[in-house]
Amino acid sequence: MIELNNVSKTYGTGRDAVHALKGVNLAIPKGAIHGVIGLSGAGKSTLIRCVNLLERPTQGTVTVDGQEITRLSNTALNQARHRIGMIFQHFNLLTTRNVFDNVALPLELMGQPRRDIRDRVSPLLEMVGLSDKADQFPAQLSGGQKQRVAIARALASNPRVLLCDEATSALDPQTTSSILELLRDINHKLGITILLITHEMEVVKSICHRVGLISNGELVEDAVVGDFFTAP
Ligand code: ADP
Ligand code: ADP
Repeated sequence: MIELNNVSKTYGTGRDAVHALKGVNLAIPKGAIHGVIGLSGAGKSTLIRCVNLLERPTQGTVTVDGQEITRLSNTALNQARHRIGMIFQHFNLLTTRNVFDNVALPLELMGQPRRDIRDRVSPLLEMVGLSDKADQFPAQLSGGQKQRVAIARALASNPRVLLCDEATSALDPQTTSSILELLRDINHKLGITILLITHEMEVVKSICHRVGLISNGELVEDAVVGDFFTAP
């Protein structure tokens, strides 16, 4: 479902060059929840940004849902991104829009009619448990509720893949658990493949099937979660 083939990413050139990713190979099957852990600066964000092509790799290819996205034109890329949802540490909600309109945003950008948007947004809000908050603004919500809105928005375009960039790092442990529970549910019910990056071992232990360790731009280990944590 997600495949990285010898992916490298270098920022800058010459003396200022930063080799953020070095020949990363990764294959995540459909329906998996795959974690990538690593210290700050290891290259986790760069990895995830290469998968939805917020960055283009310097070298190598990325394939999502059978399509090699690395070679796409910018227009084709915008189409391909509809199949990739993403959530962030700081939620990235639009403060001037209420909950409903935040979730509706991707559908508006796709040019969907208002009626279809309403039919799509209401069940999404129900799924994330925020049906009664549709008219509230982000400033009126808790961190966990904001992330639920972001999850609903990420799912609006019916993606096959959900990318989570430190999605629980700004949340307290109890809220983290409830968000992880929701992600597990989404994976289970909708069959969405999840790639999540985090510096928190507990997150990986609690929901990932497999986990990779990234260090200095290299994916140095990739194993089933049980094996990973019981390894000598
Ligand atoms: P992580 O998410 O694991 O903290 P990043 O992928 O953000 O790691 O960063 C990997 C390396 O690339 C770091 O050395 C970081 O400073 C560098 N880096 C990240 N983004 C940029 C950028 N836009 N320009 C230059 N260097 C960058
Ligand atoms: P911008 O950086 O374009 O001004 P934001 O960072 O506020 O916009 O992004 C608005 C939201 O749109 C993001 O939080 C994210 O959920 C979604 N989004 C933006 N770019 C992408 C992308 N490449 N893939 C998936 N979702 C995206």
